[in-house]
Amino acid sequence: MALYFHQVLAGQMQNFVYLVGDRESGECVAVDPAWDIDGLLARIAQDGMRLTGALVTHYHPDHVGGDLFGMRIEGLARLLEKNPCRIYANKHEADGIKRVTGISESDLVRTEDGTRLEVGKATIEFVHTPGHTPGSQCFLVEGDRLVSGDTLFIGGCGRVDLPGSDPEAMYRSLQDKLAKLADHVRLFPGHDYGPVTETTMGEEKRTNPYLAQGAALLRRMRR
Ligand SMILES: [Zn+2]
Repeated sequence: MALYFHQVLAGQMQNFVYLVGDRESGECVAVDPAWDIDGLLARIAQDGMRLTGALVTHYHPDHVGGDLFGMRIEGLARLLEKNPCRIYANKHEADGIKRVTGISESDLVRTEDGTRLEVGKATIEFVHTPGHTPGSQCFLVEGDRLVSGDTLFIGGCGRVDLPGSDPEAMYRSLQDKLAKLADHVRLFPGHDYGPVTETTMGEEKRTNPYLAQGAALLRRMRR
């Protein structure tokens, strides 16, 4: 299997959209398609690929489309108009996504921790990582690339002071799930907050305070 994997910078909030698939079968999915749907679909067509689904890390409008800070961000609704496909969202996030984007239940596949999806011969495992939002999820691609949404950033983690956020759940997601991934797993975050665009779990476990000293930080986050 030849993995198709691209990190695409999109919009005014440094979001990363990811394209993941199997070059041989020509199928791919998009993680958090938002901001420039036509550009994304053009890119996929140019690469000779076919988009068969969208995977959602969480329901915030900069990841799925909707209204945010007076901006109208295009996302899942526009994607479904241009390229009908299934939308894979964690079961705890599905209602938020419908509310923010206006898509309907029949467009959604509700996922849970451990759900697996084959895209051609590429395997994607869904890892439920509540904290930033109740239904935040990360995607483990072929067992060695983690697309982490707003759960884990390079040198940081997602905000836990927003409505629906939960610092304790974030702590458990980071320590019990993500910190257990092997050091060689490559990390691809949901935003380009620098200084680099990807790193490894080994590097993050050594240098990211939210993984390296999680318990001490949790006490600070609670205050
Ligand atoms: Zn977010």
